Formats: sequence, structure tokens, C-alpha cells
Amino acid sequence: MSIQQIIEYLKKSKRLLLASHMRPDGDAIGALISLGIALGEYKKTVRLYNEGPIPAVYQFLPSLHLIKNTVGDITEFDTAIILDCSDLHRIGEAATEVSKIPVIINVDHHMTNNRFGNFQFVDPDASSTAEMVYRLITQMEIPINTGIAYSIYTGIMADTGSFRFANTTPEAFEISHKMVQAGADPHKVAQHVYETTSLNRIKLLHMLYESIELSPNGKMSIMTLTQNMLNATGSKLDDVNGLINYAKQIENVKLAVLLYERRRSLCIKHGSDFHVSLRSDDGVNVAAIATSFGGGGHQNAAGFDIHSKLPELKRTLFHFSKNL
Ligand code: 5GP
Ligand code: MN
Repeated sequence: MSIQQIIEYLKKSKRLLLASHMRPDGDAIGALISLGIALGEYKKTVRLYNEGPIPAVYQFLPSLHLIKNTVGDITEFDTAIILDCSDLHRIGEAATEVSKIPVIINVDHHMTNNRFGNFQFVDPDASSTAEMVYRLITQMEIPINTGIAYSIYTGIMADTGSFRFANTTPEAFEISHKMVQAGADPHKVAQHVYETTSLNRIKLLHMLYESIELSPNGKMSIMTLTQNMLNATGSKLDDVNGLINYAKQIENVKLAVLLYERRRSLCIKHGSDFHVSLRSDDGVNVAAIATSFGGGGHQNAAGFDIHSKLPELKRTLFHFSKNL
């Protein structure tokens, strides 16, 4: 599907719902806001939807208030644009409602994208969905204002781990350069995203470091974040983004795992709902591991949800260390 066909279609559309994945990261938020502002400038009626929660570190973004956590009257929309989602269900509970919108456009950079929707603009080589939104906006000749610049810059910065991960391409730098020229202040973004934290969160980090376990061959690490830790430190965690990198940085570790206990059954016997985040080095494809558990992602960053008891889950996952 060419980007040109999507643009031709977009020119005709009138009322659009834009959505990105639940529990959003910087890219999901940046892509959503930047395209929302741009299409608003293009005189389209747009509603921005995200199930949330929006991490506090992104609250500084201009136009964040445009993001709603309800889709409103679904019959109002002729088009939905789904951003940064490898499948439609990633937007959360509203997926069934949203699937009733007549035309669905899929804009994403995950290698596990299942090509849902009527139009697909999927590029696994793009650093981020924000980068793809930049291409859409510039091809539509929509001027980049400060709000768009901040959102695209933040999306690229977040998904490249501040220009450190393997997806840090010349295009990522080139577009970021243009966004800074257009008014995004990298220092301000970094201050908000990395330099502001609460004492509770630091205490939680301490417990998280303590939780790290290595496989016998030292090539795999598992870090565990439980509801008990959140309670003990009085933390409300809306953002686990980036924490897994500490488990990944340990020397010789090729596969790092973060187990995030989202909900505990009242009776411990019944286990808990976990989100499992996976990070790897070049040689290890974590998207394949995540897909085998019903999740998805990229070659070096992927995730899935699972209901399990903690010791069982650790045992299952540590099996993967044998192939490293
Ligand atoms: P994270 O570890 O930050 O949750 O996710 C890492 C990457 O994997 C992100 O690109 C994210 O979109 C993707 N991902 C995480 N969890 C899931 C999931 O349950 N399903 C799918 N399809 N992708 C996921
Ligand atoms: Mn992304």
C-alpha cells in the first residue's frame, strides 16, 4: 500500500478517530498527538483516543489534553487511524467498537504487524511510528508547528532509547534535527522524561534491582515488579518504560525480562496477571518469543500478557536461556 494512496484517501475523509496502544509509551503518545494536531490544521474533525494511563513524564507535551480515554459516538467517524499497534486489539477494550468504523488505516513499525485494516502503512525499518507520521505530514505539505515538533521528537527519542538502540537510523537523526529546528527543545524533553522522579519511585527502583535473577549461564536476567513492591513503597506505577534496560545492561546478558504483576488474584494460589517485557541483543529475536505467547513487538523489544503464578512463569522463561 503506497503512502500516496493513503494520503489521497485522507484528503476525502472528514471525521477521524485516531488511536494508539493502551499503556502508551512516548512513541504511541507522540505519534497520536502529532498526527492529531496536523489533521486538525488540515481542517479535519479529529478525536484522539488512548485507553491510558498516560505516564506523568509525558504530561508536559503540548496538546496532551486532546487525548480522551473514551471513543465517544463511534457512528460519527468515517475513518480510524490506528498508530503504533501491531494488531487492532492493542488499543484496548474499545477495539470491538472501533472495528465498526468503515475505513481503518494501520500506521505502524512493528515487525509483527498483522496487516489489519483497509489501508496499511507498515514500515519495520522506521525508527518509530512518530517518524512515519512525519513522512505523512510532510507529504501532505502540512507545516510543522511547535506542538507537532515536540511530539515527533519525543516519539523518536523514546523509541530509540535516546538514540542508543539499533533502530537509531540516519532518518531518526535527520527528522529529530528538523524537529529541533522547528521548536522542540531537547533539553526540556529530557528534563521531563528522565530527570524528574519521586522518592517513592527511587525506593521502588532499589527493590527492583534487588529482584534481579540471572540464569545459570549468566546470559539471561529476570527483574520482577510486584504489587507488593508498589504497596511497600507507596508508588503508583504508570510507567515501567526503560526500567528493563537495567536488567539488560548486565555484562553477558543477551536476553532481559521484566515481569510486571499488574493484578493479583485475591488468593495467591490463583496466580496473577503479568505483563512480560523482553529485550535482547542483535542475535536474539524476542518478537518470536513474544508471539509464541500471543504478544508481539520488535526483534529486540517485545512483550506479552500472561496469567500465571510467579515461580512458574520464571521457570518457563528461564528455559529460553539454554538457547543463548
Ligand atoms: P514493552 O516491553 O515496553 O511493553 O513493549 C516492547 C514492545 O513490544 C513495544 O513495541 C510494544 O508495542 C510491544 N508489545 C508489548 N506488549 C505487547 C503485547 O501484548 N502484544 C503486542 N502485539 N505487542 C506488544
Ligand atoms: Mn513505537
